[in-house]
Amino acid sequence: EMEVMIMDNCIFCKIASHQIPGKILYEDDVCMAFLDLSQTTNGHTLVIPKKHYQHVLDVDQETLGHMMSVVQRVACQIEEKMNTKGFNIVSNMNEVAGQSVHHFHIHIIPRYQTDDPFHIQYTDRSGDVDLETIYQQIID
Ligand code: AMP
Ligand code: ZN
Repeated sequence: EMEVMIMDNCIFCKIASHQIPGKILYEDDVCMAFLDLSQTTNGHTLVIPKKHYQHVLDVDQETLGHMMSVVQRVACQIEEKMNTKGFNIVSNMNEVAGQSVHHFHIHIIPRYQTDDPFHIQYTDRSGDVDLETIYQQIID
């Protein structure tokens, strides 16, 4: 009953079932690609499974694989039509990582220049951490 309640209130479940409109670029039985309302850059698109999964660790492998092939296909189309120079392909998992809609989705963020309104920063902390300690922690 908990899951039904979540799905009833889920905006992406509603887009997937055509209860609310979206600018749909691709759709099949398993997933859908539609324009993100925010358009952090022109062509910013989301790929979602039609079935409700919370995040990337929740979705089954077959659906995830299929979604990545749709990401590739839609990104190719955007690249051609929008003259995109590159992409960031991102999925935020849980609020700590900035996830605001708890229905798994993959962002396709077209890039046109390095100072686009979207940027991603990988801080270099190599001087502050011990790589071997981190490595052992993960593989132990
Ligand atoms: P995240 O912060 O990773 O959970 O991303 C959620 C994204 O969904 C945001 O970029 C929102 O702009 C986008 N979004 C929310 N509601 C809608 C909607 N009805 N149609 C399209 N995009 C939406
Ligand atoms: Zn949902």
